[in-house]
Amino acid sequence: MTEALMSTYNRLPVSLVRGDGARVWDADGREYLDALAGIAVCGLGHAHPEVAATVAEQAATLVHCSNNYRIPAQERLGARLAALSGHERVFFCNSGGEANETALKIARRHGHDRGIDEPNIVVCEGAFHGRSLALLTASGNRRIQAGFEPLVQGFVRVPYGDLRTLERVAANRSNVVAVLVEPIQGEGGIRVPGDAYLPALRELCDRHRWLLMLDEIQTGIGRTGAWFAQQHAGITADVTTVAKALGNGVPIGACLARGDAAEALVPGSHGTTFGGNPLACRAGLTVLDVIEREGLVARAGALGGWMLDAFRQRLGEVTGVRAIRGRGLMIGIELEHDCGELMRRALDAGLLINVTAGKVVRLLPPLVIDDQQAAAIVDGVSSLVEAFLREREAAPA
Ligand code: PLP
Repeated sequence: MTEALMSTYNRLPVSLVRGDGARVWDADGREYLDALAGIAVCGLGHAHPEVAATVAEQAATLVHCSNNYRIPAQERLGARLAALSGHERVFFCNSGGEANETALKIARRHGHDRGIDEPNIVVCEGAFHGRSLALLTASGNRRIQAGFEPLVQGFVRVPYGDLRTLERVAANRSNVVAVLVEPIQGEGGIRVPGDAYLPALRELCDRHRWLLMLDEIQTGIGRTGAWFAQQHAGITADVTTVAKALGNGVPIGACLARGDAAEALVPGSHGTTFGGNPLACRAGLTVLDVIEREGLVARAGALGGWMLDAFRQRLGEVTGVRAIRGRGLMIGIELEHDCGELMRRALDAGLLINVTAGKVVRLLPPLVIDDQQAAAIVDGVSSLVEAFLREREAAPA
């Protein structure tokens, strides 16, 4: 029955109908271990009882009322996020893309406030920020831009992790107002920059009065072993975007800002019908409560570190494995071959995984996986990779 749907996805041939923690079941009752969490969304796993109870209770109380009125749950969630991240003000929306659109508008508005008529924003090669016209322009991937030209003006692209080009941009252009960067590139292949990168970016942005805008849509809400990946680097961005894991599957996004960036938007300059409604914000508050109470941020760091070591021990010397990298429960295994078919093979083996950037096996399991499940993911994924590479190495070139 997929004929009625626009073919924006090459869907795997399975219908997932039920979940419990890190396990999901298909319509035929077959069980899978989820090493993807809906692409970094279900940090608390599936059907979390507290989230389910909160959503049910709020659905029976007040789902929506519009941002023309005060929304206590939104105010509470805004304050919690601001405190956790070191930001001051929050704009709620429904997705990562909308959070990033908000960030771009803040940057441009901030530029105009500074008297810069054609503000430009620096973005990176290999980045992924979303699918709107502005965000596919900001993303550094020709594949998602092709066919949607003309692209949006006002972006300057630099290599990810490279500070020298940024310094050159700073020396040659006076209309740059902000840098938008992922602390770890997700769709781009779990690319982890050197430890010095984010602190140097912070310093460079301060020196040139640019806003540092970090897209933490995939890295945020505990996944990397800190509430926000920027905290590993000991810095605070001027603007941070989050979404994915904040609602554990209930759509919600947020753009956090501090300093001048927090004051850039005023009544009439931005808005949303659904964003920050009581249902989504109650879900978000419950997610933060559970993560905090169960110490899941530290657990993601420790368990992720163990998994990364285990993968390195098992696959580090295998021919055809180019790199194993990640932070916390955000792990990538880069191969020398295109390996998209591993998603299907994993499914057959009872595992949900992802392949991104053609050659990178991407794992983003729920933060609540237990030790046995973590070991099962390492073993299952390693076996799949080994078998796949044996075949590739044996195949005639
Ligand atoms: N930014 C990053 C880093 C992402 O990983 C994604 C989604 O994968 C987005 C932005 C876009 O988020 P959404 O699909 O919720 O619009």
